[in-house]
Amino acid sequence: MKDTIINKTWILLLISVSFICGCVATGPVSPFYRYETKGKVLISPPYLQVLLTEYNNVNSALIKVNSPYKIYSYQSERNNKFLSHPQLSNQSAMTEPVMVFYSRGKINIGKPVGLWNDDIIIVPSGENSLIQVGKRNYRGYLRIKGLPDNKISLVNIIDLESYLVGVVSSEMDENWPQESLEAQAITARSFAFYRIKQSNLAGNQTRIFDYDLTDDVFSQVYRGEECTGPKTRQAVEKTRGIIIVYDSAIFNCIFHSTCGGHTEPINMVFGGPDAIPSLKGISCGFCNQAKYFQWQAGYSQEEIIKMLNLKNIQAIDDILITTTGPGGHGTEITLKISGSSDIIMQANRFRLALGPNKLRSTNFRITRRDNVFQFTGRGWGHAVGMCQEGTRGMSHQNFRPLQILEHYYPESKIVKIY
Ligand SMILES: [Zn+2]
Repeated sequence: MKDTIINKTWILLLISVSFICGCVATGPVSPFYRYETKGKVLISPPYLQVLLTEYNNVNSALIKVNSPYKIYSYQSERNNKFLSHPQLSNQSAMTEPVMVFYSRGKINIGKPVGLWNDDIIIVPSGENSLIQVGKRNYRGYLRIKGLPDNKISLVNIIDLESYLVGVVSSEMDENWPQESLEAQAITARSFAFYRIKQSNLAGNQTRIFDYDLTDDVFSQVYRGEECTGPKTRQAVEKTRGIIIVYDSAIFNCIFHSTCGGHTEPINMVFGGPDAIPSLKGISCGFCNQAKYFQWQAGYSQEEIIKMLNLKNIQAIDDILITTTGPGGHGTEITLKISGSSDIIMQANRFRLALGPNKLRSTNFRITRRDNVFQFTGRGWGHAVGMCQEGTRGMSHQNFRPLQILEHYYPESKIVKIY
């Protein structure tokens, strides 16, 4: 891949990015200040706040900082200029994990009890320092936020490029082809920018507190340093600052495991306005060697009633796929209930409720044997955007990362923004 791919759309893109970052050279500094620009080029990747979902709204957590560290008081009005927040303390490296918890409006870190504010940032010294949270290690900083009822939430504050190493290694295997890893790095970087934009637009009012992404499948999977290796690191470094845009704008370039043959328009899966050309769905044809290209799953009638949380319903007469996308995935499901009106729901909601690791996609046929509904399906995931297993198939046929992205996101463009 060429390491710099700047096309004519970059000026428009810059406007879009500047809007997101609030960092144009003139005019007021937006409350969403993310990173600095010099002239028209972004100097460095933004910092992200990634919620560690396993440690969201919990009583306590075990952490260990392997180097001397500073504690800052987090002040939301200072946004992401983290090191300009008031500094509270210098601490030496921890020799063993300590418990963090929240009591009487103060965060406590280990014993003897050290009491800090209700929202703090731990900033280790040194480039290669790690913060251990539970069994995982994280680069960057750790924010500990006190919540009502003495609960805490933990957020990893990390620069985008370091974060991406963790995402690519969590979303794909280190042993996957380099082309796949690079395509994934670009997609994950672009998705992160999209989420920054969304969290900025949402502001702080609709959330308990401000973070950009979660570390699970509802954003993109991120397990810190757990699975990282030289190939994933290289894929991120080689694509540094490169993102994918449509019509000079960042878009919701989501991805999934296995499309089963054809991807779907984003609006048919999740609702919303008509899909842009890049998210309209395409014939994949490269994922037929995937483990879950075909699968089966069975559920009893009672299981389905319970998992869908259907109140006052004893029996399901039938489950019908009432609309289907161009890729063959069901997009609307109708449950026929005896003595009651039909229940109609988005097929993707149905899939998530029945467990996305069992009912792996919405591209299925249903047969019924006595009390059991048997699903025979294809693919894994929501089927919108890049098919990860398909990138593997394309890599094996010598397609390059940019060709892979052009295939899965038609009419998109690749730009380098820092
Ligand atoms: Zn596919």
